[in-house]
Amino acid sequence: MAAPLRLRATLALVTGGGSGIGRAICTRLAEEGALVAVADQNEAGAAETVRGLPRGESGREHEAFGVDVSSAQSVGELMARIQARFSTPPRVCVSCAGITMDEFLLKQTEAAFDKVLQVNLKGTFLVTQAVARGLVESGAPGGSIINMGSIVGKVGNLGQVSYAASKAGVEGLTKTAAKELARFGIRCNVVLPGFIATPMTDKMPPKVLQKFAGMVPLGRLGDPKEVADVCVFLASEESRYITGASVEVTGGLFL
Ligand code: NAP
Repeated sequence: MAAPLRLRATLALVTGGGSGIGRAICTRLAEEGALVAVADQNEAGAAETVRGLPRGESGREHEAFGVDVSSAQSVGELMARIQARFSTPPRVCVSCAGITMDEFLLKQTEAAFDKVLQVNLKGTFLVTQAVARGLVESGAPGGSIINMGSIVGKVGNLGQVSYAASKAGVEGLTKTAAKELARFGIRCNVVLPGFIATPMTDKMPPKVLQKFAGMVPLGRLGDPKEVADVCVFLASEESRYITGASVEVTGGLFL
């Protein structure tokens, strides 16, 4: 007998769902029965993700949305469009939209630092706040918010001063949200991937990537699906007593 679906008919929002880890998360959530709102600034990527998702039992359809997570107006419009389309706020939200603009501390420009913080940290704040408000206003208890941090936010990394700072911020934001939202039954957790093979890591010089792969105790880069499996667990009732946690998905990497 097939295992029961863990997220049957649950509406899930995934930002950054048009590529890499976000796309893998959309796929795993849909495989578990969730209805997925796939949001990304890359609208073509989001639409492609939707085309690849398994259809839910209810026959209702997943949908792609354009969003710039660093803009409060854009996030507000996204939430309004999701409400109009599905008549309910998302009960699961995975904030996966993110960028890198790597540079050493001594060379990092103010503009690049600001941009990375705006997308990775402010974007996660805006989406977390909007989803939490929607859930609280709906009056129905429960919900699972999952934010994408990085192991780099915990231990730092050469050439990633803005990225590491943004991801450390995401961890602090998520732990605070967990404390504030627990009384509404909303859980918030942060996932800290190590080096996962995606278009983001494709931008790194092959030599650097090879060096990192060699440092991973499990001996390889991670697969986006391996991060997605953890997100499904955190989204589901199986993790009902877990909130405010940082879950490392690194193959044992400790930089
Ligand atoms: P990815 O393939 O580049 O996907 C990120 C997606 O976010 C892209 O579709 C990107 O669109 C979108 N995005 C960027 N800025 C946005 C904005 N302002 N509003 C909405 N969407 C935006 O990267 P990934 O590797 O899957 O990374 C996903 C998340 O995991 C990120 O938060 C990343 O920091 C985190 N992470 C990744 C790794 C790794 O090794 N890959 C490790 C640790 C953490 P564009 O393509 O148009 O930029």
